[in-house]
Amino acid sequence: MTLLEVNDLTVKFYTQDGVVTAVDNLSYQIESGEKFGVVGESGAGKSVTALSLMRLIDSPGQIESGEILFKGEDLLEMSEEEVRNIRGNEIAMIFQDAQTALNPVYTVGEQIAEAIRHHLGHDEAEARERTIQLLDRVGIPEAETRFSDYPHEFSGGMQQRAVIAMALSCDPDLLLCDEPTTALDVTIEAQILEELEELADDFDTAIQLITHDLGVVAEVCDRVMVMYGGKPVEKAPVEELYYDPKHPYTVGLMSSIPRVGDDRDRLQTIPGTMPDLVELPPGCSFHPRCPYAEESCTRKEPPLLDPETGEEAAGTANEHAAACLEYSGELQGGLDYSVEINDSQGEPTAVNPEGDRND
Ligand code: SF4
Repeated sequence: MTLLEVNDLTVKFYTQDGVVTAVDNLSYQIESGEKFGVVGESGAGKSVTALSLMRLIDSPGQIESGEILFKGEDLLEMSEEEVRNIRGNEIAMIFQDAQTALNPVYTVGEQIAEAIRHHLGHDEAEARERTIQLLDRVGIPEAETRFSDYPHEFSGGMQQRAVIAMALSCDPDLLLCDEPTTALDVTIEAQILEELEELADDFDTAIQLITHDLGVVAEVCDRVMVMYGGKPVEKAPVEELYYDPKHPYTVGLMSSIPRVGDDRDRLQTIPGTMPDLVELPPGCSFHPRCPYAEESCTRKEPPLLDPETGEEAAGTANEHAAACLEYSGELQGGLDYSVEINDSQGEPTAVNPEGDRND
């Protein structure tokens, strides 16, 4: 069943430097219980998309158009009170920085229990019991004792676990995770991602996982959308994207993932930076950084197409779609990269022979 359907969402920010189109005509959907990854560099529009789902875009930002159907109801048409009842209850969010999500003057347990009392109407004893169960479930040792600890008495990893417990406290249908493990070291990151995945399965919660790291998506997600300059440039089931990427930007992201046993002298990087969203380059906005760009790329904006047929992407959940002129037959030189599978790890590495050209 489709849980979330975003149609033609456009979000703009009216700044002194000009109008920033942070999200441009974005459409995607998430099925119940699905783990959906949103990947891209800073400025791709990932976090603005998530904040739009919570109706948390503040001035000078504005949701200009589109619809966000959650269980068939448009969140953008609801009153503030209706949205408040959904926020933190049916849709919950985990931010990158757990420290700012926790109030330093209340105990960790009390903060979670308060959310449970507010959203689920439990009395004090019931809320305390559910909080202790949750803290235990997310891997906090001696949960009953740690209930009364203040946030500063928790390590970074434990704080993030507590925030996950808080987000899950009301059994949400959709959990928005914005770079939930970026601030943590790699061993804790791996543990927390694994637990997040297990918890989502146990609670039958869908996840929208926002990250700049394609490796994180490969660990957790069923499907993925790669964003660039406020638009999707590739959408696919995660294995297809990982083993058969179709967009040069995805290839660039894959080439820059470090891997154990990698014998490349240095990682490839994507030359240049995300363009200024006030004035996106004409045509394909990736063209200044793309090793395969041709003159036609500077003129025509590529639509999302089925790479096999060249037909417009159908908008179904399991389709593979990419926005590159290669798939409309308008790229003369073609795309020239390969994906190598590392035998010992079974992991693919995208090898872009042109990747160093613009370094
Ligand atoms: S349309 Fe051109 S610039 Fe854009 S990704 Fe394809 S080859 Fe690169």
